[in-house]
Amino acid sequence: MIKRLSIRTLALLLVLISTVPATSGRVEAQRGALVAAANAATVQNAAPAGPVELDATYAAYGFLFEQYKGPEYGSFSEHEIAVLGQVIEAYADLVGSPETLSGLVNGPVRVRRDLKRVVSYTQAGQVIGLGRGAFDLAVTAEANYYAWGAESGDELAQIVFGHEVAHRWIDTVRREAEMDWGDAYGETIWRGERPSTGTWAANAEAGANAEEEAVTNLALYVLSKGYRWTFLRDAPATENRQVWIDGWALDLIAFTNEIQ
Ligand SMILES: [Zn+2]
Repeated sequence: MIKRLSIRTLALLLVLISTVPATSGRVEAQRGALVAAANAATVQNAAPAGPVELDATYAAYGFLFEQYKGPEYGSFSEHEIAVLGQVIEAYADLVGSPETLSGLVNGPVRVRRDLKRVVSYTQAGQVIGLGRGAFDLAVTAEANYYAWGAESGDELAQIVFGHEVAHRWIDTVRREAEMDWGDAYGETIWRGERPSTGTWAANAEAGANAEEEAVTNLALYVLSKGYRWTFLRDAPATENRQVWIDGWALDLIAFTNEIQ
């Protein structure tokens, strides 16, 4: 709030000064200094103010939680970091060690709250952004995004975060071993409840995407959820299909162990 007031004051001064003919060098110099100050303040406000407090608890696992002061990027509470930390530890258990996970996600991955967005995302610049819907079932439902069967905000956040971690895992394997486990998922697991309901490509327009389903199901597998998710239906997969999904996850884990 203080920052906003000071920018307004500066802007007002600029308007006043610019309407006065610049007859003296002193006024010119003053105006230049004000322009510079206003520009600096604007730049600072446009971007995140920068990490103010870094929780490095999960640095060994390849994750850095970032805390921002700005209104667009919020901060994690201690509770939220603990909730997400359980996901990180579950992945590390699965792949063998914190260091292995760090290599697998090509860490350090910066984890931040991104209140501008509803949904969460992974960026090539090694950022996992958690939108404001990540910890909020009501916001997610309102925005018409999948809640993946979660029954609480914490559970939803774990699936959401696990989904983004899985994206990084599959990206790394694709880049380093030239093997695409998103494609592998699409080839071995049909879309919907039955093979007869169509191919992935035929349903692409309706939002079917093999990799998106794959990473969600990998997260559910890692989190030991007793269900696996079916694309286009915010519902658990049938038992038969789950066997195929678990087979895919086990194959991915075995392949990853081999290339390490
Ligand atoms: Zn995704």
